[in-house]
Amino acid sequence: MSRFRLDPDRLPPEAEKLRGEVRSFLADELKDFPAWKRAYTWMGSDPDFSRKVGERGWIGMTWPERYGGGERTSFERYVVLEEMLAAGAPVAAHWIADRQSGPLLLKYGTEEQRHEILPGICRGEVYFCIGMSEPDSGSDLASVRTRAEPDDGGWRINGTKLWTSGAAGAHYMIALIRTSVAEKKHQGLSQFLIPLQNRDDVSIRPIRDLAGNDHFCEVTFEDTRVDADALIGEEGAGWGQVMAELAYERSGPERYLSCQPLLEGLARHLGPAPSERARIAIGKQVAHLATLRQMTLSLAGLLERGENPALEASVTKDLGGVFEQDLPGIVQGLVADEPRTDDDGSDLQNLLAHLTQNAPSFSLRGGTREVLRGIIARGLGLR
Ligand SMILES: Cc1cc2nc3c(=O)[nH]c(=O)nc-3n(C[C@H](O)[C@H](O)[C@H](O)COP(=O)(O)OP(=O)(O)OC[C@H]3O[C@@H](n4cnc5c(N)ncnc54)[C@H](O)[C@@H]3O)c2cc1C
Repeated sequence: MSRFRLDPDRLPPEAEKLRGEVRSFLADELKDFPAWKRAYTWMGSDPDFSRKVGERGWIGMTWPERYGGGERTSFERYVVLEEMLAAGAPVAAHWIADRQSGPLLLKYGTEEQRHEILPGICRGEVYFCIGMSEPDSGSDLASVRTRAEPDDGGWRINGTKLWTSGAAGAHYMIALIRTSVAEKKHQGLSQFLIPLQNRDDVSIRPIRDLAGNDHFCEVTFEDTRVDADALIGEEGAGWGQVMAELAYERSGPERYLSCQPLLEGLARHLGPAPSERARIAIGKQVAHLATLRQMTLSLAGLLERGENPALEASVTKDLGGVFEQDLPGIVQGLVADEPRTDDDGSDLQNLLAHLTQNAPSFSLRGGTREVLRGIIARGLGLR
């Protein structure tokens, strides 16, 4: 049985010092940014914005300087993420590369891969997508059928990845691919670094979601040729590598702050003297928020100390998902306004409309609620 470790961590003074700098950057950059776009935050892509964040040194903040990183602490990075998300900043272009692909390459990539790719990520110019899910493999990820076969010193890839966020604008995918058939399905899997742009042996088809956005895609590999050095880490060790990557994916403040602009919009809408019912509801949400913040801060501390907090990250993502998924309904119950997507709607109505439509996906992306609870039960020795 794993020990559940979320010891309280505090932000050190140098991290708090950074907060003012990030806030004034965002106040300036986002002064004309519409409310509805703030509803998208880490799903909203703006390469110009990402480049400006890179210029500030706020991407790859904890990575070694020799790869373009800032050698700062996870806590300083935490403050930057928290401020970006609270403002609803459009960070999607660089988000995945900064959060998990860069750290994965730091851990398992070759020295050439690191020197070639990480500096571009830090400049906010090189973007990644995650090639895990497939048409018949989501929760049961080890059943992926995309396969890579040795081919003239390199590899030939065939298969389809699905729901790949940001694939249409990404320079690379890190994909989980079967390289051999083994007795146990978790064996024989490997990770590959696949360049996506300007090639005719990869097709990328954006998929429209119920809110009308097409940020995720179906990506098909047809005899896609990659060089030998596209293999990340060890052949056949892909499952363990992917599990470590998922701890990065599930542990950050984006797992409870997707609706933060809505909560702040509600407080503004209700003004200085809200009803008692509204005060109680807001108080409850802020108490949840404070707890989730402490949990993600503790996770930043565990990552800072080089640990793999898979269990703690699953608990935090699950609780964060419940919190942020409930918020649009709570807000609508407190205000008389209907959600509206048109230009005549108020900022609060626009935020409400977009987040109501997007919230169902919060307990799917990054692993479903049921699957996370299975991981938690196993981690606590309950099954
Ligand atoms: C907005 C969004 C962005 C995404 N981005 C990416 C991305 O960038 N890259 C990527 O690889 N994937 C991405 N995904 C895919 C996501 O990871 C999968 O949708 C998710 O893992 C579920 O897989 P599935 O859709 O195949 O559903 P299924 O696995 O078929 O699940 C269907 C239902 O059955 C339940 N279920 C399945 N197995 C169990 C079990 N063992 N016990 C209990 N219940 C179970 C699930 O909880 C779910 O409710 C994204 C999804 C969304 C919604």
